Amino acid sequence: MDWFLQFISTSLIFFAILFVAVIGLLVVIFVIFFIIDINQTKDSVRRNYPVFGRFRSFFAELGTFFRQYFFAMDREEMPFNRAERDWIHHVSKKGSETVPFGSTRRLGEGAVIFANGMFPKMEGEHEHSAPKMIGAGSARPYQPKSFFNISAMSYGSLSRPAIRALSHGAKMGECWLNTGEGGVSPYHLEGECDLVYQLGTAKFGCRNDDSTLNEDLLAKICENPNIKMIELKLSQGAKPGKGGILPAVKVTEEIAKIRGIPEGKSAISPNRHVEAKNANELLDLIAQIRNVSGRPTGIKMVIGNLSTLDDFIAAIKKRGAKSAPDFITLDGGDGGTGAAPMPLIDNMGLTIRESLPTTIDALTRAGLRDRICVIATGKLITPAEVAWAFCAGADFVSSARGFMFALGCIQAMKCNQNTCPTGITTHNKRYQRGLNPQNKAVRVKKYVGTMRYEVEMIAHSCGVDHPNALTRNHALIVQTGKPSKPFSHIYPDMEK
Ligand code: SF4
Repeated sequence: MDWFLQFISTSLIFFAILFVAVIGLLVVIFVIFFIIDINQTKDSVRRNYPVFGRFRSFFAELGTFFRQYFFAMDREEMPFNRAERDWIHHVSKKGSETVPFGSTRRLGEGAVIFANGMFPKMEGEHEHSAPKMIGAGSARPYQPKSFFNISAMSYGSLSRPAIRALSHGAKMGECWLNTGEGGVSPYHLEGECDLVYQLGTAKFGCRNDDSTLNEDLLAKICENPNIKMIELKLSQGAKPGKGGILPAVKVTEEIAKIRGIPEGKSAISPNRHVEAKNANELLDLIAQIRNVSGRPTGIKMVIGNLSTLDDFIAAIKKRGAKSAPDFITLDGGDGGTGAAPMPLIDNMGLTIRESLPTTIDALTRAGLRDRICVIATGKLITPAEVAWAFCAGADFVSSARGFMFALGCIQAMKCNQNTCPTGITTHNKRYQRGLNPQNKAVRVKKYVGTMRYEVEMIAHSCGVDHPNALTRNHALIVQTGKPSKPFSHIYPDMEK
């Protein structure tokens, strides 16, 4: 019994000493932080509320996590809400599935609903139609197999396993993959899918030191038959009018070789193509690329000033329809995968909702609608959004972020910090370990397959055979306090 009492009293003394030591340590840490905070001049909250001010940023960080997982409603978050993300996560694993008990979507001002036909056709009655051929007048016209495709994502912005998964997934899903402006990497080529080679303003992969086009390098890259089209990027949704900077730390030996730039030095893309400061020079550059590559050649842009679009169309009319770009990829101004300054992401360039019907109408008025294919991109990640784009007049739709969700993106929004928790936008091997390219390639295939299936289903419900037959009469735009308006009443100039 004595030994037991002795054990208890020794333990109590030990824990009392430990308690005093811990409290003492906490007091010492508190005093150190107090002195640091009160003397620093960078953070006024910490200077006015030493030590306690530190919890503010901790809770702000924690708040993002709690809102996403516990408090935000299914249709609330930005840029993509949980319902949209979950739909992609779900279909990329399991394909098209039904959901029970009605819609949870609030039909607010501007929401799109479709006009279902009174007598839909029976299964098997629909005529199948191949997507439009692109660049029929070029040396090697391209006949895409899919109306929904993978938008621009560079090796460098995305990790090696992510690009490998996209390449194999595109092959299995029979869609094209756009290389993004970072050049054609071996990982884009690996799956042997159809590729669109994007030339940004720095022309990575076929550039001279002054960012002009190197014809020999372009011709060499185009020896690969999987390069189907060339896309000259004028601007992108994340940063219209601004070139990018690839920091020196990211310019590894491999990236430098692929892009054709010196290793270990920051790579700065100019704000525009140095050869093209007006519409005529742009048409010259398009013609030069088309001649050298033999491929359909188009441009990617965000529409801002409508008069410059009119000037460009006028320059084409003057030279003749042959001089036109074979396609225009129209990006929305409200951000994309690329990291960019907030004013450009939030406030620069028209959204695709406005620019797509406007551009289609401008091309129709100029008699160029059949000559120039239009590819719509920018936040079109669900079947309803893709079907809306076809109603507006698009020939194709492509998406980058939709496919990032198929790869497992959880919208942690750390793409520019090299700490992407899903391994998609990081070069840190520890995070990349979680991304299995084989498994994710199957998800890419399922996402693109389900998208085609469900957009076709919308077209069939509207009483037409395929998405390209959708018109603005098939979409209604919800108005506040009034009956919804047919899309064709808002943009009536459409001829399909
Ligand atoms: S950092 Fe977040 S948002 Fe960006 S790719 Fe990774 S999971 Fe997605």
